[in-house]
Amino acid sequence: MKSPIPDYLHEVVEACSGDNPGSTADYIPELAQADPDRVAVCLSTVDGVVYSAGDADAEFSIQSISKPFVYALALAEHGLDHVLARVGVEPSGEAFNELSLDSDSGRPLNPMINAGALTAHALVGPESATTDERVERVLRGLSAFAGRDLDVDESVFESELGTAYRNSAIANMLRSYSVIDGDPAETVRGYTRQCAITVTVRDLAVMAATLANGGVQPLTGQRVVPRPVVRQVLSVMMTCGMYDAAGDWMSTVGIPAKSGVSGGVLGALPGQVGIGAFSPRLDPHGSSVRGVRMCTRLSDDMGLHIMDGPEPARSAIRRDRTLRGPQGHTVRVCSLQGTLQFSGAEHVLRALSDEDAADRLDLVVLDLRRVHSVNDVADRMLREAVRRLRLDGLRVTVVDPERVLYTHPARGDESADEVVPTLGPFLGYERVGGGGQAAGV
Ligand code: GLU
Repeated sequence: MKSPIPDYLHEVVEACSGDNPGSTADYIPELAQADPDRVAVCLSTVDGVVYSAGDADAEFSIQSISKPFVYALALAEHGLDHVLARVGVEPSGEAFNELSLDSDSGRPLNPMINAGALTAHALVGPESATTDERVERVLRGLSAFAGRDLDVDESVFESELGTAYRNSAIANMLRSYSVIDGDPAETVRGYTRQCAITVTVRDLAVMAATLANGGVQPLTGQRVVPRPVVRQVLSVMMTCGMYDAAGDWMSTVGIPAKSGVSGGVLGALPGQVGIGAFSPRLDPHGSSVRGVRMCTRLSDDMGLHIMDGPEPARSAIRRDRTLRGPQGHTVRVCSLQGTLQFSGAEHVLRALSDEDAADRLDLVVLDLRRVHSVNDVADRMLREAVRRLRLDGLRVTVVDPERVLYTHPARGDESADEVVPTLGPFLGYERVGGGGQAAGV
């Protein structure tokens, strides 16, 4: 069978390209020259399968889409508190190149507007780094997200630097309020090189998939940034990523995203997919008209709105049976499945809450063979269940061949001796009760 997904993406490109309104960014001469008819879209799954349609190999400068990634690099390097002390996380509701600082804190409002992005750029690398060293770090960081070596487009860089009056004004403002140190002209030069890094929609989709995949690049397997950094970056993209149209985007498309003035749009849906879209003509907010259309269509068709998330809780317990062994002892086997988070673990605790269980049972078996992952809170909840069952006088065995439980850091592995890889010992036990469909194990 030929996958229908590329055909679907072709259809999306066709359907969204009927007309081509808007205009290319004119404040950067090189961008004003861009071929306005180009259009492309690409999807990358979190395990690195890439589908594309349209001019998927067309190269363009990353521009503002670099901002979340450089913010991620600054966070990974300095930690949240250090970065938060210099750049806030509040949507500005203003244009991306507004000369503004938060009136209370004196910080740029967020890292997706230029004031915050110039500050985040200046945070990458040691304070003593030269502009070239800093840009090199940014380039290496973004290349790790893309899974290939990216380069700066020198003509876009020269073109933007030649007319970077606005960004120079912002950098001087930042310097005068001591938000950045050093020479503001050098910060603008480095930031402008960052914006001139060349990408394709494929790069955008894969970079987005790295965020969607919790910071691990799906093609190279490299952990590029820690998971908490990804959470921070996606949150800021969700609230501030689409210039001053972020609220409209959140309610209609509902995917953490960032657009750039060269016509790129990047969207990252946690756990599912990375999206790259490109078409140079922009709407009045500065986002690609056809790029926004394509993302809207994808979100509608594929149910990608983040508020339409799955409801895993109902299916956390796959089977729950009571069995009788040859020596007459009674065993409850509770088989769980899927990805366990708070709501799924709460279901399990509810099912196991029975203060008289020790009167009827000798052993409880928690069967995790079909559980893919257990997040931190679910891990704590299940461990607490094991501890309390034991306090009630029951023996507990955890069947956990992939070791999905007891893997979270900062807690001992005190129950490891009760963890076994198979249900083998219980094969042949007779089923005497419970809500399962099949008898035996
Ligand atoms: N290099 C552009 C600027 O700083 C990026 C703006 C954008 O893509 O929104 O003006």
